[in-house]
Amino acid sequence: MAFLNENYLKLKAGYLFPEIGRRVREFQTQHPQADIIRMGIGDVTRPLTPAVIKAFHDAIDEMASVQTFKGYGPEQGYDFLRQAIVDNEYISRGADIEIDEVFVSDGSKCDTGNILDILGRDNIVAITDPVYPVYVDTNVMDGRTGEVQDNGYYKGIVYLPCTEANHFVPEIPKTKVDLIYLCFPNNPTGMTIGKDELKRWVDYALANDAIILYDAAYEAYISDKAIPHTIFEIEGARNCAIEFRSFSKTAGFTGTRCAYTIVPKTLMAKDGKGQKYPLNQLWLRRQTTKFNGVSYPVQKAAAAIYTGQGKKETAETIKYYMENAAIMRKSLSDEGYKVFGGVNAPYVWVKTKNNMSSWDFFDLLLGKANVVGTPGSGFGPSGEGYFRFSAFADRQKVLEAMERIKKLG
Ligand SMILES: *Cc1c(COP(=O)(O)O)cnc(C)c1O
Repeated sequence: MAFLNENYLKLKAGYLFPEIGRRVREFQTQHPQADIIRMGIGDVTRPLTPAVIKAFHDAIDEMASVQTFKGYGPEQGYDFLRQAIVDNEYISRGADIEIDEVFVSDGSKCDTGNILDILGRDNIVAITDPVYPVYVDTNVMDGRTGEVQDNGYYKGIVYLPCTEANHFVPEIPKTKVDLIYLCFPNNPTGMTIGKDELKRWVDYALANDAIILYDAAYEAYISDKAIPHTIFEIEGARNCAIEFRSFSKTAGFTGTRCAYTIVPKTLMAKDGKGQKYPLNQLWLRRQTTKFNGVSYPVQKAAAAIYTGQGKKETAETIKYYMENAAIMRKSLSDEGYKVFGGVNAPYVWVKTKNNMSSWDFFDLLLGKANVVGTPGSGFGPSGEGYFRFSAFADRQKVLEAMERIKKLG
């Protein structure tokens, strides 16, 4: 019999969303009449916009004709999309990113996991808590941790708690770490990091030869002018950061699949002898070997977001979600909940009342209001006592859910 990868056996059983699904199904079976409102999983609900759909259709028509048919494209993405990304996301913000530093992919989830392919096993990894579970689990799978401990932390990971006390921005570690995962605007807390705070992280990384893995999946939701959209707005970041971006939340591409990762040519890592190599070359090698690119129609659809009409439509969708977030923030704080996030991110992070546990609050909300959210403890031990509401819902459902929560008192 063949051997399996034993690292997978270290993973905690019962991933958050399957457990939520199980409890909701059980409740629905017992209460078939209940009209359940789902504000749990972070998936969008508004459709692709007309400009995107038009480009998508046109590209499919090109595939139908022998003159314009496309086979395999460049693994790292077509230049029309990479150039649009450089111009609109980076040059426009004063960040000097070049076209061959952009790698188009089918998702940030896979990129944040796959990046570990090119990074040594002995790196010490720092991860925020609470956190998007992918960063932790992919490090476990890759053998960069020990077993999980009673407190919910894996041995070998340096956890960076994000709590009310530090405004949900982690403190710089006291010990030396090699890889640091930061996600801002944050999922699940909906909180952001300012330029000065992000600069402290860049300075730490430069001083310690560390690499920041910066997930900016929600940058399109930033409305506050003082908050950086990309880590490359910070001086020195080209020498210490990789950035992950996705069209999933920006433009409703969760089911269409398109994202990109920026690996600057000036970012280096060393081998066991201390010899330095550019990670851009390793990532190119990794992608050209293990990935065959995103489909042409999807890349055309993504590029349409950068047209005048596309930008206008995308902004309208984001405005819709952020109005939901504002409604939720107001309603929940009127009800006496302590509310965080939801201003520059589509998540509202709520402290439960009377120190109720996250899962008890989940059961209460499901049972009494038939509303589903996400227990904060599912994102890490520091999320205990908190609850995440997603603003990616239909307006009527948001209003109805808030009305029902009001009745709970
Ligand atoms: C939704 C999300 C992503 C995007 O993932 P895709 O695979 O591109 O859909 C990345 N990071 C975080 C934190 C997210 O919440």
